[in-house]
Amino acid sequence: MLISVHATIGAVIGEKIHYSLFAFALAFLSHFILDIIPHGDKALIKAYRSNFKNKAMLYLIVFDIISTIILLGLMFYFHKLTYSPSVLWGIIGGVLPDFMVAVHEISHKHFNRARKAHDFFHEKLNWSIPLNLSLIYQIIILYLLLRH
Ligand SMILES: [Zn+2]
Repeated sequence: MLISVHATIGAVIGEKIHYSLFAFALAFLSHFILDIIPHGDKALIKAYRSNFKNKAMLYLIVFDIISTIILLGLMFYFHKLTYSPSVLWGIIGGVLPDFMVAVHEISHKHFNRARKAHDFFHEKLNWSIPLNLSLIYQIIILYLLLRH
């Protein structure tokens, strides 16, 4: 799933649950559950793992991080989200699993168990959908989340 989807769901969890630790834990768990839904990145990950010079996955990640920062900034600016510690912890919990996987991919040693757990959920369903289709449904999810 896009980091922006994980971050937004984490933020919404943080808005509903005002206890930061619970918001963090629930958002963290939500990441793994959401990643079960096929979201079109299987081909890119495979291409990246078989040839580390394949930069398509990295471009998607950079685009994803930048768009997440812009989206969160706009949500706070237009009061679609209200800043609070639990919202912040929800966002952190929502994106942390992907951050741990990234650290593992770079270091090849840290967060090995987190990466295995992430892969387990990520590859739970053995079917995939095209990336462009998944981007459309993820944008719809974002729209529905922000309509409240
Ligand atoms: Zn993930």
